[in-house]
Amino acid sequence: MTIPVDRTANTRIDASAIADGKMTNVPSDHMFIAEYANKEWRKARVQPYRAIPLAPFALGLHYAQAVFEGMKAYRLENSSVAVFRIQSHFQRFNRSLERMEMPPVPEDLFYSAINTFVDADRDWVPPGPESAFYIRPLMFASEERMGLKSSDEFLFIVVGGPFRPLYSKPLRVKVERKYSRAAPGGTGSAKCAGNYAAAMYPTQRAREEGYDQVIWTDAASHTRIEESGTMNVAFIEDKSFVKSQNTEPVIVTPALSDTILDGITRSSVITLARDSGIKVEERSITVSDLQQGLESGTIREVFGIGTAASLAPIGTVSIDGIEHSLSYNENSIVYLLRKRLNDVRYGRSEDLYGWMNEIGVVEV
Ligand SMILES: *Cc1c(COP(=O)(O)O)cnc(C)c1O
Repeated sequence: MTIPVDRTANTRIDASAIADGKMTNVPSDHMFIAEYANKEWRKARVQPYRAIPLAPFALGLHYAQAVFEGMKAYRLENSSVAVFRIQSHFQRFNRSLERMEMPPVPEDLFYSAINTFVDADRDWVPPGPESAFYIRPLMFASEERMGLKSSDEFLFIVVGGPFRPLYSKPLRVKVERKYSRAAPGGTGSAKCAGNYAAAMYPTQRAREEGYDQVIWTDAASHTRIEESGTMNVAFIEDKSFVKSQNTEPVIVTPALSDTILDGITRSSVITLARDSGIKVEERSITVSDLQQGLESGTIREVFGIGTAASLAPIGTVSIDGIEHSLSYNENSIVYLLRKRLNDVRYGRSEDLYGWMNEIGVVEV
């Protein structure tokens, strides 16, 4: 599918700042936009990044029929640009859309949108070691209508910009025992706007108490660990120093359910870990398992996993007001896994799984 490109006459790019990773978290020059009405997609185009007109009665603003994705394009060692796991993001986008009673985006439209947009702004893709170009596909109900209904009109937009994760110090998190992010039968496994709105109040209360984010627990009993903020969560359990046991370190992460977002970084880390001989257990882990593991020292590492932060070590876990701390060094498994993942993303190791989708390559 060929998408027309209306290039900006006023680029905002500062190439040397991008190369130094200094121009970050700003929208790039262009955006993709397409309109859905009368059951069809039309006017797909790449145009200069700008505000879009929207009716105050646009349904999405009132009833949160809105879905997004978060993915990244990387500048490879050979200077080409490639998007990480576009197919998985495409599939998850459509699963989220279905849950929100929104029409699917055809595969050709999604791939062409990402490819044409990122190709137009390829000079905005920063080089490694940690920087990348964040891509935000977004779709929401744009029909102007008084009264509640499922919209018949939508906008599909793709925007993005250079991004560098802030690896400051390990995070401080609090296990949330009152509020919930997701409930069984709800929308927790969809990347829909409303989930994030509902998380803001408890997250902000945790910030006021000095934490970076909360660890979500199950809505019914608040005893099982689910996610960490807007990331999946994993633990390194290592019983090898307990005399009676002679085990290798194991990665433990909550098994997927309809209250856990099926993270593409999580699934990538599981694949890379298993293929490098590290055992991974996807299972239920309770707050008291976590507490005992932290007290006895069998849980050595706790980390968040997601596109934005990649793998982010957690240094403090507060459980019912008691803080447990963890320390990390260059031998920590979290850093080993992050390196393995980055080696694929920046083209330093072979793309064994077909995860990298090169931009600007015309298929024949
Ligand atoms: C996006 C997201 C994740 C991480 O998913 P990735 O595909 O790895 O970026 C985890 N949890 C929630 C709630 C999310 O929104």
